[in-house]
Amino acid sequence: MEHRGGCGADNDSGDGSGVMTSIPWDLFDNWAENQGIASFDKLHTGVGMIFLPQDDKLIEEAKKVIVNTFRQEGLEVLGWRPVPVNTSVVGFYAKEAMPNIQQVFVRVVKEENVDDIERELYICRKLIERAFASESWGSELYFCSLSNQTIVYKGMLRSEVLGLFYSDLQNDLYKSPFAIYHRRYSTNTSPRWPLAQPMRFLGHNGEINTIQGNLNWMQSRETSLKSPVWHGRENEIRPFGNPKASDSANLDCAAELLIRSGRTPDEALMILVPEAYKNHPTLTIKYPEVVDFYDYYKGQMEAWDGPALLLFSDGKTVGACLDRNGLRPARYWRTIDNVVYVASEVGVLPVDDSKVTMKGRLGPGMMITADLLSGQVYENTEVKKRVAASNPYGKWVSENMRSLKPVNFLSATVLDNETILRRQQAFGYSSEDVQMIIETMAAQGKEPTFCMGDDIPLAILSQKPHMLYDYFKQRFAQVTNPAIDPLREGLVMSLEVNIGKRGNILEVGPENASQVALSSPVLNEGELESLLKDPQLRAQVLPTFFDIRKGVEGSLEKTLYKLCEAADEAVRNGCQLLVLSDHTDELEATRPAIPILLAVAAVHQHLIQNGLRMSASIVADTAQCFSTHQFACLIGYGASAICPYLALETCRQWRLSAKTVNLMRNGKMPTVTIEQAQTNFCKAIKAGLLKILSKMGISLLSSYCGAQIFEIYGLGKEIVDLAFYGSVSKIGGLTFDELARETLSFWVKAFSEDTAKRLENFGFIQFRPGGEYHGNNPEMSKLLHKAVRQKSESAFSIYQQHLASRPVNVLRDLLEFKSDRAPIPVGKVEPALSIVQRFCTGGMSLGAISRETHEAIAIAMNRLGGKSNSGEGGEDPIRWSPLTDVVDGYSPTLPHLKGLQNGDTATSAIKQVASGRFGVTPTFLANADQLEIKIAQGAKPGEGGQLPGKKVSAYIARLRNSKPGVPLISPPPHHDIYSIEDLAQLIFDLHQVNPKAKVSVKLVAEAGIGTVASGVAKGNADIIQISGHDGGTGASPISSIKHAGGPWELGLTETHQTLIENGLRERVILRVDGGFKSGVDVLMAAAVGADEYGFGSVAMIATGCVMARICHTNNCPVGVASQREELRARFPGVPGDLVNFFLYVAEEVRGFLAQLGYEKLDDIVGRTDLLKPRDMSLVKTQHLDLNYILSSVGLPKWSSTAIRNQEVHSNGPVLDDNLLADPEISDAIENEKEVHKTVKIYNVDRAVCGRVAGVIAKKYGDTGFAGQLNITFTGSAGQSFACFLTPGMNIQLIGEANDYVGKGMAGGELVVTPLENTGFCPEDATIVGNTCLYGATGGQIFVRGKAGERFAVRNSLAQAVVEGTGDHCCEYMTGGCVVILGKVGRNVAAGMTGGLAYILDEDDTLIPKVNKEIVKIQRVTAPVGQMQLKSLIEAHVEKTGSTKSSSILTEWDNYLPLFWQLVPPSEEDTPEACAEYQSTAAERVTLQSA
Ligand code: SF4
Repeated sequence: MEHRGGCGADNDSGDGSGVMTSIPWDLFDNWAENQGIASFDKLHTGVGMIFLPQDDKLIEEAKKVIVNTFRQEGLEVLGWRPVPVNTSVVGFYAKEAMPNIQQVFVRVVKEENVDDIERELYICRKLIERAFASESWGSELYFCSLSNQTIVYKGMLRSEVLGLFYSDLQNDLYKSPFAIYHRRYSTNTSPRWPLAQPMRFLGHNGEINTIQGNLNWMQSRETSLKSPVWHGRENEIRPFGNPKASDSANLDCAAELLIRSGRTPDEALMILVPEAYKNHPTLTIKYPEVVDFYDYYKGQMEAWDGPALLLFSDGKTVGACLDRNGLRPARYWRTIDNVVYVASEVGVLPVDDSKVTMKGRLGPGMMITADLLSGQVYENTEVKKRVAASNPYGKWVSENMRSLKPVNFLSATVLDNETILRRQQAFGYSSEDVQMIIETMAAQGKEPTFCMGDDIPLAILSQKPHMLYDYFKQRFAQVTNPAIDPLREGLVMSLEVNIGKRGNILEVGPENASQVALSSPVLNEGELESLLKDPQLRAQVLPTFFDIRKGVEGSLEKTLYKLCEAADEAVRNGCQLLVLSDHTDELEATRPAIPILLAVAAVHQHLIQNGLRMSASIVADTAQCFSTHQFACLIGYGASAICPYLALETCRQWRLSAKTVNLMRNGKMPTVTIEQAQTNFCKAIKAGLLKILSKMGISLLSSYCGAQIFEIYGLGKEIVDLAFYGSVSKIGGLTFDELARETLSFWVKAFSEDTAKRLENFGFIQFRPGGEYHGNNPEMSKLLHKAVRQKSESAFSIYQQHLASRPVNVLRDLLEFKSDRAPIPVGKVEPALSIVQRFCTGGMSLGAISRETHEAIAIAMNRLGGKSNSGEGGEDPIRWSPLTDVVDGYSPTLPHLKGLQNGDTATSAIKQVASGRFGVTPTFLANADQLEIKIAQGAKPGEGGQLPGKKVSAYIARLRNSKPGVPLISPPPHHDIYSIEDLAQLIFDLHQVNPKAKVSVKLVAEAGIGTVASGVAKGNADIIQISGHDGGTGASPISSIKHAGGPWELGLTETHQTLIENGLRERVILRVDGGFKSGVDVLMAAAVGADEYGFGSVAMIATGCVMARICHTNNCPVGVASQREELRARFPGVPGDLVNFFLYVAEEVRGFLAQLGYEKLDDIVGRTDLLKPRDMSLVKTQHLDLNYILSSVGLPKWSSTAIRNQEVHSNGPVLDDNLLADPEISDAIENEKEVHKTVKIYNVDRAVCGRVAGVIAKKYGDTGFAGQLNITFTGSAGQSFACFLTPGMNIQLIGEANDYVGKGMAGGELVVTPLENTGFCPEDATIVGNTCLYGATGGQIFVRGKAGERFAVRNSLAQAVVEGTGDHCCEYMTGGCVVILGKVGRNVAAGMTGGLAYILDEDDTLIPKVNKEIVKIQRVTAPVGQMQLKSLIEAHVEKTGSTKSSSILTEWDNYLPLFWQLVPPSEEDTPEACAEYQSTAAERVTLQSA
């Protein structure tokens, strides 16, 4: 399992590995005997495995405190055992931090049963931890375990040395009926010895995305948690969380509390990590008691949400469970001698298949447990039923939980137009907010989209007033905790939230169910009224205004404190619902509203600090909330629900306005009623909230509430500490007084003498004269066009002056260079042609932009030796050879371009692999100089790309293996990246298929990116790209453009410095992009640590874009971002324009370098000492702090050039090298011959066949190979088996495989069968893992057995026969044919826009499992469809020997009516799907395969 773990820069210090077992009493008795100690009384002895400090004195000090604590608790210390270790196997970094490891044996005298003994030990440990908490070295003491049942051996070790390090683990006396083994790959904390896993109860493969909220809520609970088992000692066992520990450690802590308080481990895990029980037909119909259990707990314990495979044990039970979305692999198998294994991979243990009676996998939300005393194994439903039956949860819920009944929207406005306008002004609305956001949502029921990124200043830099929300950026999942898909996998998500007191989770009873359940957090006025009337809630409304007449007493800050006190008092008096309200009959000029976000967050924090938060919910009744981001902020900082009364009134006013009425009457706008307008608005908000949750990988709003998943840009410490404690705020900013001033600037507008007749347009979205400054503006684009088209240096210097004199727009504008050297002549500086080689263009897809633009950019970059980026969508192979036919600037090869030269190549040096895998074929990959994995993009991190149907021309469709006119949507996550080890696997796959291409990973700047980047570097990436939030060209929701991601200056600083600190900086090239326009940007980025520099929007402008900003409409007036022929014909650009631009930029860089006295860009990379703050004032604050950017942790050991010039990282020796070295195979490839081979395979052999496929694709393309490689593998294949197969590769696997089988295959044949003579029934067994056939573009696969989740996602042409699948099969499929001869999971065919699926439904359970949003479900009536199905099943019998298929064929007439055919609209008129299709004559029908 070594390949699933992370390793430090020394390639030796593991991120962590460990094992939990029962206590090896025989071993310890043997030790005791040697020490002259009596053998242990197993019932009464506890064993502690302790990491002690390194220093001898501290060890003695620590031991003294430990011994005293045990004594005080009445426990007798029997002895200390130094744990025998072999330090020679420990890596350099790990050894530096290695603790002294000892075991302590204690006798518990006063308790007689195991649970009480365990509790006593738990109390002792907590007391000891407390005693050390105040010591400066307290963190050096750590109990891996202290238990009478279990023990944990772990450390900063690699898998293979764990057993060598701890010699106990090799001792024959070490016996245990179970073992939980874990190998860590850390990405959210730096590796440390205590953070290795397993923890004390569980080992966790995953991430808890809601950790900040979970910590807050656990802290809130501390005072209310009580249980008789603690005999009043609850105070002594606090706290129940540690913000400095990892997410897994905190989850372990919460589980431990529940279990020590009397819950069983399976019950604790069901409470903490609930499955997606809604929309679950099996549970609802067969196991309603399980649904009741989850309903009961949903209002009491927020889910610890995120991808997770959890293995747990208390020593009596051992079990495993999977997160609600099934985002981690978990395979299990049972043997005839009653051993159960669960593991992330098959093949990790040598198991005789003839003894295996069952091979399965845990599906989403599933659990398996084994009772270690009775030997009984409980599978999912048995476990859940048993737990759920322990109390009458259904009765308690039905008798105590109230559901809020929907109340109709108001059918008329409440206020007159003038009052509405005044209120909108007072509360900070602009005309863009009303017209582009609120009205669009009211009219269309969805968020508005826009394009070309966010090019206005951060709120703190802006000269315009902003609402407080604009200082917050949404955080999002990258790499380790994947975004989930609110559109296609929304069934695991929920916006439900409960209102009212949260009871004592340590006890169960009907009173805990006494809450009000809301279906969403968006309330209308009537619904809020209902809540206020609920007698049990005892709601209290707290007005949120401050009073400027009262001076300091009425100041914003003082008023906030008073508000918190009022909330405090109300809750202490029994109020269970606090309504913070800025709703008033009359606005008063001197009583402005507190920003509602500040009010909510301050009260939330105050109640947490004072132990009252569980007693009441917070609801905001506010005018200051109308966008999805604003709702998300309020919920993220503690509001359970919001009544956006002024936004609803604005919807009503819009609907009743004469303008709207006329537009509807004239048919220029669809007619909606006043109620529909409000429903639409709420619908858009809810969809937007789901999207915001999902981009952080969170499924449940109840877990998002209070999770504070935002980064703050521009608020000072006093504000953050009071209201937003725990959120990252790196650059400081506004004080309370400054914030009050900004708030007041809105308020006074409503009361000025000459009140404006309409709302002000600040120009935050669209450029307008007098409005907010936009980095990309018409003047700038004109100046740039002139400079590059005229090739005029003086014109370029005017462009430079324009940039130099712009208002402060980005953080780097606040910095300038200082030098420690005298200037040198420019002639001494490295040439421009060397500098431009560090330049790249953004990943703009062919499809989003036109062929002309895409090719012109690529040609320009190739002329310069820089790099263009294909973006997502593939590339026409015609572009891969240099042009030789150019005459007068024109070439018949690329007839639509002008300004060409012979020798030009239009290939994109960087070829992108994004989540949709559009155009990603073996040949595409094999022809890349570099391969980029796009994890996130600046304009919409955490969301998938989308190409509207009208942009999918025939040409675009051909390159993407799709159908013209059908929209192409990419999933938010790469379905083969659900963890850092998955990313490492995809990097491995790409290095496999093209070992000459450097692999880059594109991330977006946000807090924590340094640790993520370290994980990516350890994952063997060659390049890490950091994008700023301001990038982006394609269509995105406005809220995503504006409110997600951070400035690259901060992201780059964190990445560069963290990599240096971890000794990893030399491994990777750092590339940065986001709003680059000039040489100054390049120099700034270099000084902060970047080696290479990306230009996005400005490259489009240089080739002709005039910033009309309608790219998302396909109507680009200059043919830059349109696929319409007539508009493309207007494309004004030539490659030379871009060449000129980059040469000017490079010259600018040279000029600056000369002034600084440096000869090479190399010399200033990472030199923050050459930067200083500019002497200037910002309009809003003088408290911005740029020290973070100016800090330094030293320089990389290598020069930037040396880092850039290093070889492509290698996969090391791989099985494919052996295959390619085989003379017969190489001869068959070289001369297109046929060869047969049989090869043994193990799970460490990953991406097998990928390299062979790359060699074939490079030589013959995706279809040209006429040879036959017939290779049979036997054993357990590692991940990505048979990836990127090409035609002519006929691969058979006898055994089993892990995840990603057949990933990206473009042709050939793949057959997977179990070994002969197994002890299990093949059609019941899972023999291939998750996400098989992802992004396949051709070929056939036959599997005798079942597949895991997400089978055939984004398949576009391949055909498959398999005997069962997990959830989400055929998701996002755009072509091909999938036959499933057994049971499937939920959410079949979500987002399936092409291809066909045939599914056998023997027990009539399929229909509720199908996602019918796009596909229709029908019996197989078309004769051609029947033929297609039958012939594929015949092929399956022939290839696999499947008995299931044979029986189907034998009784074909009986089985055929049991098949369903899933048909998306694009296939409805095909002969396979349409029984009435006219041309059924067999000879005229082209079957896709048969
Ligand atoms: S000119 Fe074309 S590419 Fe440029 S912003 Fe407008 S629509 Fe987009």
